[in-house]
Formats: sequence, C-alpha cells, structure tokens
Amino acid sequence: MSYNGLLSHYQSLLDLPSHTRPVSLLEGNTPLIKADNLSRHLGGGFELFIKYEGLNPTGSFKDRGMTAAVSEALGRGATTVICASTGNTAASAAAYAARAGLKSIVLIPQGKVAVGKLAGAVAYGAQVIQIDGSFDDALSMVVQITDKHPICLVNSINPYRIEGQKTAAFEICDVLGNAPDWLCLPVGNAGNITAYWAGFKQYHEIKSTGLPQILGVQAAGAAPLVLGHPVEKPETVATAIRIGKPARGEQALQAAEESKGRIIAVSDDEILSMQKLLATLEGIWVEPASATGLAGLTHEIESGKLKMSGKRVVAVCTGHGMKDPEIITKDMAKPIIVQPKLEVLEDVILG
Ligand SMILES: *Cc1c(COP(=O)(O)O)cnc(C)c1O
Repeated sequence: MSYNGLLSHYQSLLDLPSHTRPVSLLEGNTPLIKADNLSRHLGGGFELFIKYEGLNPTGSFKDRGMTAAVSEALGRGATTVICASTGNTAASAAAYAARAGLKSIVLIPQGKVAVGKLAGAVAYGAQVIQIDGSFDDALSMVVQITDKHPICLVNSINPYRIEGQKTAAFEICDVLGNAPDWLCLPVGNAGNITAYWAGFKQYHEIKSTGLPQILGVQAAGAAPLVLGHPVEKPETVATAIRIGKPARGEQALQAAEESKGRIIAVSDDEILSMQKLLATLEGIWVEPASATGLAGLTHEIESGKLKMSGKRVVAVCTGHGMKDPEIITKDMAKPIIVQPKLEVLEDVILG
C-alpha cells in the first residue's frame, strides 16, 4: 500500500478543519529500531526501541506538526507563516511553506542555532531574523505580531501542530501492537510530550492499546519544569531544548502525572555521553537534544530509581545528528595524514 504522508494515513483520527489542503513531504512512518546493544549496556533485561524521528524529511519530528499546521494555513487562505525557533521548527516551517507556495519568516535566538538547522531554513527560502534575545523572547514576538497581522503562527501553540505530532504515538502502537511500558523523550517547549500523551490516550480509547508511563527529560541548565519556575537564561549544549518558559509546560506536567511518570533533568555531560554511546553502540547519530530522553532513562536506571526488568521502553530521538555537526567536529582529533603507499598504511592499521 502506498504511503501518502501522515495526514492521509491517519486522516480519520486527526481533528483538522475541513478547509485543510494537504501539503506533505511524506513525513512520518519513521523506523522504530530495536537497540539491543544499548539495552545490554544499561544492564539488560528489557526491550529498548528508538523512535528515530531524525529520519523525517527535514531531519526532525517537527515535520509531523508542520504538515498539519501548514496544510490548515494554506486551506484557510494564509499567505505567510511565522515561527520562533531554536532551529528545527524553522527548517520545517520553511520547507512546508515552500511546498505550499507560502512565504515563511523565522525568528531565531542570536548565535545559538546549530548550523545544519540555519542552513535548512535558508535553503528552503525563509526570511531568517535573529533576535537579540532568547527563544522565549522570540516566541513572545511572534505571538504579538500574529495577534496584530494576518500571519499564521506555526509554533506548537498552534493546535494543529499537536494533531500532527500525536501520530508518532499511533505509529509506535501500530508497530508494537500496543503502547510500551515507558516512553522517554526530551522536553523543551513541551509540545511533543503533550502530543504523545494525547496520541496514546486517543489510541487507547479506540483500540485499547494501553498507556505508557512517560519520562520527560530536560537539560539541567534549562529545566523550568523540574525547578518549578521559569529560567531566565537557559543554557545547555542541547540547543533544541534551550527553553526557559515552555509554552505547554502545564500540559507536560499533567502528562507526566496522569501517566504515572515524571519529568527529570540531566547534565550536559550526560547528554553528550549518551549521544556518543548511541552513535558508537547502535550506529544512530542524533543531535544532542535527541539523546536527552535516553540520558534521563540511563540516569534513572543507574541511580536505582527505575527498574526496567521485563519492560518495553521506547526512546524518542527527535532530530538527526547532521543538524549539529560542530558539536562533534569542534573537539575531535584531526585524522592522521599518511602518504598513499601501502607499507605506510599497513603500518598505521596493523601497528
Ligand atoms: C523541538 C525539539 C525538541 C523539543 O520538543 P518540544 O516539543 O519543544 O518539547 C527536542 N528535540 C529536538 C531535536 C527538537 O527539534
């Protein structure tokens, strides 16, 4: 059966207005990869799967929400979309707007956007504006401007973003046959955790697929939901979740509570070691933010707070490693240079 993108695949389950005109890049339908090496490394005895969202068309899960938001905007007659972004939303909005023939404007916090994301937004033809401030400042600006002008906001406060993003939960249940015991994922502006929980609840109502416990994970330097108050100057190497005032923070806390899960924080070191571990043990390279859910899982297992024995766990890896190559190349040892002679090469390889 041919796959025509997630709006078409899950049409009957998505609450989108009838004026919606589908704009798709065949997003979604991403692989759920069993990660036995990593599971063994963490003590074993449980099943671990990676929902590899970096394989979406623009390299992050944002495409799930963007196909819905841009399709609705186009059908409504919008001509311009705008978003604030730490990078991935910008690239995604720009790509879907391009395909729909709409203009896109993206506001990014100055100097804190990974090169692969900025390059995407530029390549897809967005008007890119840097704000001399944080992501939270940029979000406040786009809310104000869309209140005043007929420009469509496509951040995850747009409800159609959540409709599109909940399809990831449907896909997981479709592959596994039911919901996993635990789902772990990074939490930034908290749209994705909100969408997953909505998706699992909806699927459970119609298909009795059960509900996972949700482990939401923030970076320690940007952990408003763990601290219980906004963070004025969020700092973390995981730039995609460098957010101090999550727009859907209340819903994230509710998802954690209703699912009998929790929201925790991990250090940048834990995030970077997990990024490396996942790449070297499983061949899955994700950007730092995307390793945060797994870093949190590891933290809970190693500190004895979670027993995973016999459980089935899904870790959502939200974006591709190629989005942020500098995080790897900036400290790497330069590859050695040898003369193009067999004896020299043998010497280097065989010692
Ligand atoms: C947007 C993003 C997140 C955070 O998702 P929220 O919905 O803002 O919580 C995590 N990882 C990556 C790679 C992202 O692009």
